[in-house]
Amino acid sequence: MFGISRRTMCETLKRRFLLLYGTQQGQSKAIAEEICQQAEQRGLVADVFSLKDTNEFSLEKEKAPVVIVISTTGTGDPPDDAQKFVKKIKDKDLPEDYFAHLRYGLLALGDSEYTYFCNGGKVVDRRLEELGARRFYDTGYADDCVGLELVVEPWIKDLWSALEREFSSRVENEKIIREMNNVTNANHNMVEIPGNLDVHIQTISLERQPVSDGPPPNKATPDAGQEAEPSLVHSVPPLSSCSLNIPALPAPYLDVQILDCAAKESDLSSLYPEKEIFTVPIRQAKTLTTQDAVKTTLMLELDISDTTIDFQPGDSFAVLCPNPPGEVADLLNKLGLSDKKDGQVCLSVKPQAKKRGTLATDYIPEKCSLLYLLTWCLEIRALPKKAFLRALAEQTSDVAERRRLQELCSKQGNSDYNSFIRDQAISVLDLLNAFPSCRPPLGLLLEHLPRLQPRSYSAASSRLFHPGKLCFIFNVVNFAPCCGRRAARKGVCTGWLSDLVRGSTDTSDNINTFAAEPQISIFLRPSTLFHLPLDSSVPIIMVGAGTGISPFMGFLQHREMQRQQQRGCVFGDTWLFFGCRSHEKDYLFGDELRRFVANGTLTHVKVSFSREPPCTDDKEPPKYVQDYLKVFSRDVFRILTQENGYFYVCGDAKNMAKDVHAALTEIFCAELGVDKLEAMKRVTSLRDERRYIQDVWG
Ligand code: FAD
Repeated sequence: MFGISRRTMCETLKRRFLLLYGTQQGQSKAIAEEICQQAEQRGLVADVFSLKDTNEFSLEKEKAPVVIVISTTGTGDPPDDAQKFVKKIKDKDLPEDYFAHLRYGLLALGDSEYTYFCNGGKVVDRRLEELGARRFYDTGYADDCVGLELVVEPWIKDLWSALEREFSSRVENEKIIREMNNVTNANHNMVEIPGNLDVHIQTISLERQPVSDGPPPNKATPDAGQEAEPSLVHSVPPLSSCSLNIPALPAPYLDVQILDCAAKESDLSSLYPEKEIFTVPIRQAKTLTTQDAVKTTLMLELDISDTTIDFQPGDSFAVLCPNPPGEVADLLNKLGLSDKKDGQVCLSVKPQAKKRGTLATDYIPEKCSLLYLLTWCLEIRALPKKAFLRALAEQTSDVAERRRLQELCSKQGNSDYNSFIRDQAISVLDLLNAFPSCRPPLGLLLEHLPRLQPRSYSAASSRLFHPGKLCFIFNVVNFAPCCGRRAARKGVCTGWLSDLVRGSTDTSDNINTFAAEPQISIFLRPSTLFHLPLDSSVPIIMVGAGTGISPFMGFLQHREMQRQQQRGCVFGDTWLFFGCRSHEKDYLFGDELRRFVANGTLTHVKVSFSREPPCTDDKEPPKYVQDYLKVFSRDVFRILTQENGYFYVCGDAKNMAKDVHAALTEIFCAELGVDKLEAMKRVTSLRDERRYIQDVWG
């Protein structure tokens, strides 16, 4: 059969590529949206799909280049919405040339504080390669620890030339094949064009628009008496007087209407129709730290006896939390919509908008009220991205304020963006307070703010030990006031939970019970790896600081019950390295740990206190968990290399997990007598064997 099908002809007229994203917190999705938008400006067509929509695209048949943006979650897992896709491509029966026709580029997102940095992307990248797919562009690894955009922006910038090369090489191939076909099929006047050849038609290069209004008449140039230091609303030379390169203005894609009629009451389960959401009472709240401790740690006990929740120690679950009511009210006020808060919001995608697949309309329930939308659907505290600042500048009437917003989103203002927006965790409400002439329409917020994410917490109890209960612990997050925000504030979820349990009755021993139990909505997030070993005879080493002890309480309660129920069974040694600041103030679960030791569940517990006053004798006790690990390096090494033991790390990703990793490498160096590189390889192989497992959060 020789002929150009109508579809192939259409496809060759536009340069299209398939754009897939796998997202946990909405970042990959937002980046895919950005790529899609820039593609449009370049005359390219991106067909965008979530990796969860495996029925909507088919890599098996894909003829165009494929771009994948994928994040990492949990212990180096692909995000929830990519799990099905990853399972599919991991099928061992697939032949080696299964994706030989495929050309792709991949952007992996991760956080280098975690051991399995960008592993979600690496898994997909590796598997596509194993199945014969070839990259048309080098894989990017964006690090949330230092700022995703440091890699994302240049990666997207160079993606276009890589795609151009890819399209051009396809045209070349097409020509060659056409010529060959002309020779071999001289008697036929039509030629079959292999499907993966698209025609290069036009090149538009419009990425950044220079702004050079000359030195601005703005607050950026301090007047006499104004501070000479830059701040959120002020800049100093050279930034205040230079030409700026700012991002292209994103095209609006939403039409928003607020109807006068009152909206129906939306149920929280409509936010996650694919999840099984349980609304459960908080039976008890306990403060685990003293009043003068640096951080306040709370433990909540949920009553799950009326649910089908089936969790194992090591699993975590997600809590659906609202934005703080005060901030929602202020935002409504700033938007001039306070009197419409109960009105029903109707969203639709503008008819001419080309944006597909990743829209606010996907997750905002139909017919919800404006108040519900701002309370439960939108991450109003999210860090405003540069594209958002660019769009906000357009809505700002004061010339000086507009210029400052332009500076903050410009290439030249990168350092100011980091200092005054990123590092201070500035929200859109903070911006609207700081730039009073900025009056954005509601639609702009819906287009630029991500979905409000439920927060995850590790289960701190075992169902064997506490049937019908699910406990978790958390530190109440505090944000200090800063130059862009006068008031201190608490974390969205931990602030809400701590307020929720504050109005409780009957306080004794820091335990609060309730006259009317508050309720929260949760869904389970099972862990793929962070579980006790199936073979109970192998030893385990648990390392955690602060709230990182949480899953280990579940492990130990579980073991305690197993030991009672399975007499005659062999149980391996259990080591706990736990770090806190002070014996008096934040030694979490001290009594319970002593009980585990007394009944033999916990064979070794080593607690380090980082803020205890120096000892009277000469010998300083270890301050941090990693110091204690080094003291017991022989045992750690023996357990991991000779006894097939497991090494679990849980807690703060930023410092503890990294330091523990370094300590483990040091132990391997010393015990094996090898250099650091060789030791790192040995530690990596532990991870590959799934015996070095992390559950860390930032
Ligand atoms: P948010 O409002 O989301 O603010 C927290 C964010 O702000 C963080 O990104 C943090 O880096 C940043 N931040 C914090 N302070 C500042 C500051 N002063 N200035 C600037 N930025 C700042 N947490 C627990 O306490 N216990 C657990 O058992 C637990 N288990 C988890 C399990 C998993 C699998 C995951 C992914 C996370 C877990 N977390 C746990 C973390 C938890 O999900 C939340 O992130 C945490 O409770 C904060 O939520 P929040 O809404 O109160 O804070």
